[in-house]
Amino acid sequence: MFINAGGEALNETDSSMKFVGDNYFEGGNVMQTNEPINEAGDCPFIYWSARIGSFSYRFKNLPPGDYFVDLHFAEIINTNGPKGMRIFNVYMQEEKVLSDFDIFSVVGANKPLQVVGLRVSVKEDGLIALRFEGVIGSPMVCGICVRKTQNIPVTQGSQEYLKCNNCAAEIEVSSAQMKFVRTKVTYKYEKKIQELTTQCQLKTHECHEAWMSLTAANEQLEKVRMELDNKIFQTRTLDETVGKQTENLKNITSSYEHYKKYWAAAINNLQEKIKIMKNEHAQLSHEAHACAESIPELNKMVTGVQALVEQCEDLKVKYSEEQAKRKELYNQIQETKGNIRVFCRCRPLSKAEISAGSAQVVDFDAAKDGNIGILTGASTKKTFKFDRVYTPNDNQVDVFADALPLVTSVLDGYNVCIFAYGQTGTGKTFTMEGTDQNRGVNYRTLEQLFHIAKERSETFMYNISVSVLEVYNEQIRDLLSTSPTSKRLEIKQSAEGFHHVPGIVEAQVENIKEVWNVLQIGSNSRAVGSNNVNEHSSRSHCMLCIMVKSKNLMTGDCTKSKLWLVDLAGSERLAKTDAQGERLKEAQNINKSLSALGDVVYALATKSSHIPYRNSKLTHLLQDSLGGDSKTLMFVQISPSERDLSETLSSLNFATRVRGVELGPAKRQVDTSELQKMKTMLEKARQESRSKEESLKKLEESLQNLESKAKGRDQVYKTQQEKIKELEGQLELKNSMHNQSEKQLSQLSDRLKGKEEISTALQLKVKELEAKIKERQQSDSASCQQKVKELENKLKEQVQESESHSLSLQLKIKELERKLKEQEQNPESILLRQKIKELEDRLREQEQQLQCALARSFADTIAASPREGKWRKDDESMNEAEPHILRSSNSTSSRPLSHGFKQPKISDLVHESRKKRYSRSGETENNMVMAASLADKRARKSDPPKIARGVKTTKPDSLAAQGPAAHKRVINRGQVHAAMERDSNKKIWSR
Ligand code: ADP
Ligand code: MG
Repeated sequence: MFINAGGEALNETDSSMKFVGDNYFEGGNVMQTNEPINEAGDCPFIYWSARIGSFSYRFKNLPPGDYFVDLHFAEIINTNGPKGMRIFNVYMQEEKVLSDFDIFSVVGANKPLQVVGLRVSVKEDGLIALRFEGVIGSPMVCGICVRKTQNIPVTQGSQEYLKCNNCAAEIEVSSAQMKFVRTKVTYKYEKKIQELTTQCQLKTHECHEAWMSLTAANEQLEKVRMELDNKIFQTRTLDETVGKQTENLKNITSSYEHYKKYWAAAINNLQEKIKIMKNEHAQLSHEAHACAESIPELNKMVTGVQALVEQCEDLKVKYSEEQAKRKELYNQIQETKGNIRVFCRCRPLSKAEISAGSAQVVDFDAAKDGNIGILTGASTKKTFKFDRVYTPNDNQVDVFADALPLVTSVLDGYNVCIFAYGQTGTGKTFTMEGTDQNRGVNYRTLEQLFHIAKERSETFMYNISVSVLEVYNEQIRDLLSTSPTSKRLEIKQSAEGFHHVPGIVEAQVENIKEVWNVLQIGSNSRAVGSNNVNEHSSRSHCMLCIMVKSKNLMTGDCTKSKLWLVDLAGSERLAKTDAQGERLKEAQNINKSLSALGDVVYALATKSSHIPYRNSKLTHLLQDSLGGDSKTLMFVQISPSERDLSETLSSLNFATRVRGVELGPAKRQVDTSELQKMKTMLEKARQESRSKEESLKKLEESLQNLESKAKGRDQVYKTQQEKIKELEGQLELKNSMHNQSEKQLSQLSDRLKGKEEISTALQLKVKELEAKIKERQQSDSASCQQKVKELENKLKEQVQESESHSLSLQLKIKELERKLKEQEQNPESILLRQKIKELEDRLREQEQQLQCALARSFADTIAASPREGKWRKDDESMNEAEPHILRSSNSTSSRPLSHGFKQPKISDLVHESRKKRYSRSGETENNMVMAASLADKRARKSDPPKIARGVKTTKPDSLAAQGPAAHKRVINRGQVHAAMERDSNKKIWSR
């Protein structure tokens, strides 16, 4: 029985075999292939199908006996698979007949493998069981053949039968024959075996050769394959480079395309531009032609314009002249109104006063004419006159309108001072500061300044800064300072003569809003400084300083001016009982500063030579804005209430004092005559100014600069004068010191001379003694010699003493001289020394001249005198007697003139010489004083001397004599200077 595993039953006619379909199996799957199976013999088809997986076959009902089982395998699934893919065991009747069986490893792919003749004996149960079990992978079988075994005949006995190949007859042979036959056959087979062995060897050899050639062929094949690989590799790399090159080429092509487009566009663009430019060029050439044609016209125009410019320049000059005149007139108008003006303002009765029923004592009937009446009694009325009187109905606008011209002067470079004076509660703060709704002079002034500055902005550049100060108890406090400094603020004078407070905050303000902020800060910090605001503010002066720097944009001139707006402390006097402690001090300081203010104004008005600015901090601060060219406005604030009558009267009296003197009779006379002139001039000026007002404004400002410069120079002049004064004072001091030291020196030299004289007297005595000794030596030398020796010793001691004394004196002199030198070397006194030297030189000259004159006249007198011989004798004897003194004296001492004068004659001479000099050189009396003193001295010397003739006219002596004279001269100069200063002051004030 042949089972086609995994396939169907087949009837092969030409084969004795019968192929049964796949029956008897248990488990597994069917597998089929179309692959041809090589060397499959007669029945290759059975290998086209197979059973695979885990399966077994059971053949039942077989007659008992022995059977052969053939198994057919072929690797039909894993045709190219490796070894060991499919390893399995085969069991028959549960007995392993094939172990780890691998088809592929035995035959390879698609080749049949037959396991033939597995012997099995079937028992009574008639069953053959076949089981396939996978070790790796799944087992597989293509066909199973079950065959029954043939019964093999058993030879019995020794007799054997040979079968004939041709006829199949059995021939009986004997054992010997059999043996022979067997030997023969054996031999035959052996021979055959031998042949086959040799054939086999040959074949083996052939095989070996074939193998060798195969190996060689394989090697060659390998080489060829490697070469092929290389070639393939090369081809691949070439392919890659070709790919890259293609890519590059593509890129280049695309960029080329891109650029092509771009350049085409650019060229188009340029072409368009060229077209436009061509058009423009055509236009321009057209215009150029037109221009060329219009040149002559243009030339005409240029000449026309030049003429206009000349006219304009001419007009400018005229303008500036007119402007100057206008300025002058404006200033003159201001001056005719008075540089000091007083406005009186009376506040309305307060609610409290009305409710208290207090009566009004102020009469405003003639207020328009500047008169104000105060009812001092039931029927008595005292009238005061001011430049302007404001009734309680006049508001802040009215008040400021009158202050406006002064305010404008600040921008013109003038210094201005506006202050409010009066009793506390009369409206000083109201007038100056005002309230939020009713702003006062301070705010309105700054508002106006900005307004005018804006108007003039084309020709002028203004720089406005603001400081706010408070003067309390003669101490300055900076109300804008954010950091409280312990340093005391002091007033200093700058090199240009301006007074300023170093370290004070100067807030730069650009617009009116900033101004309001600054004013608020100021009034706030004033409030912060005290517990009771009203109380404190009425006891201190609040001072707002507006500094204006201007630059004329046309001329480049700069001016610097100041406007002070002062809210003074209350002027009321404290009742004596109230004045205690701090309050007393406050009251004293206020009184001091207000009366200092009054004094200054008074001194200015009376053109006093000395203006006592430094008497208080207030006047010192206001120095630049009081007097000179500066303008002052005082608001005297009064209360209408009868209660305040006495204070009102005192305020009005103060104000009248301030104003009254300014408009004194002398001034008035001058004013009326000048006023007439000015009025006519003003009329003219007004007419002119109306026509040229616009342009005048611009040119106005250049003049301002000049004026301010002149003012600056005036101030510099003033400061220089002050400096000269100071220097002269210092000179005086130095001179007096110098004189003192000279006096000391002369005293010392006198003493020295005294000592020297003593020593000479002693020497004389010694000589006398020596003479006596000689005499005595002759008589009794032995006794006397000892005495002489003693005396000599004493003498020596005395001489030594005197010498040591004189030495110490000399040392002292040297020291004094050194001190003097030191003083002279002092850098501060260099200037002074030079001056002193000059003075000395002049003095010496004068002295010499005088002496010459004296000598001349003396010689004349001597020549005429009968006592000539005696005098000469005297001189000679003196010279002989005092050789060493002469040696130590200086040149003046050696003059014979120094001695033996007689007073009347000298005085005459002096008198004469003085006359001569006076008539000749026109020197002041200084020289005369000096000459007189010299003569005095000479005369003194000619008196019978107390220390004989030792007193000489040494240089220090003469200097000492010069001392008082020089002193006098300095004093004299001082007086002259004071007079000059007065003159200069007068000039300044009258200007
Ligand atoms: P002072 O500063 O002189 O002490 P104030 O300016 O503080 O005086 O004025 C005192 C009071 O009088 C304030 O309430 C103020 O508003 C008021 N006052 C002063 N002058 C006027 C005026 N002309 N019109 C209205 N009220 C005034
Ligand atoms: Mg006040």
